[in-house]
Amino acid sequence: MINFFRAVVDIVTPPKCLACRGDVLAGASLCTACWQKLTYLEDPVCDALGIPFAYDEGEGALSAAALADPPPWDRGRAAVLFDDAAKGLVHSLKYRDVTEAGLFMARMMARAGRDLLANADVVMPVPLHRSRLWKRRFNQAAFLAKPLAAACGKAMATDILLRQRATPQQVGLNAEARRKNVRKAFMVPFEKSGLISGKTIVLVDDVRTTGATLAACVVALKKAGAAQVFVLTFALVKEPHRMHIDA
Ligand SMILES: [Zn+2]
Repeated sequence: MINFFRAVVDIVTPPKCLACRGDVLAGASLCTACWQKLTYLEDPVCDALGIPFAYDEGEGALSAAALADPPPWDRGRAAVLFDDAAKGLVHSLKYRDVTEAGLFMARMMARAGRDLLANADVVMPVPLHRSRLWKRRFNQAAFLAKPLAAACGKAMATDILLRQRATPQQVGLNAEARRKNVRKAFMVPFEKSGLISGKTIVLVDDVRTTGATLAACVVALKKAGAAQVFVLTFALVKEPHRMHIDA
């Protein structure tokens, strides 16, 4: 019966690729070209940055980039590299409210971050400021965090880490400007710190560009007593200084 209704729906609104809006055979999927374009970040990867290694360096191995400039988080993973196909999915969720795109992304993140999620106590999205939430109607990070928390049977918390001021958009800013922009933007209210003290947290967002926003969140969570913070994003910008970023 469900297949019948699906077929009727598909005739009325032919299924579109979640990334490029081109034609696909079945709904809630990608076209062959977009599938082939995505670069999956599969093991072995750097334990902190999630960037792939050419050879297996063993569990917990760190890349030269992570050793040279260690991020404040303990472990990091992303499902794919940020490229045109990944950007299509991110924009489908962020600007067109295509919920199938979000569920599709979350499934890929659950796979890439399975080890992080298995070892976490709580899953948290990077928060949006209330004023921005109002304008855009929903927080894409929270949308992704919800099915991830459900998939691993962990709690999701949206009221512990707060954005205390609306920061200008990060789009178009370089690494240093991004760091300044989000410094001290996040906080954990004193009365909530007991809820995360000694806990391991998976912090979720759609894209890690320079990592400035995630880093500011991690600093706030650790200041409030979190034992470990892992970061899990759908996409990762490998060389933010070389790319024109409009995520
Ligand atoms: Zn496509």
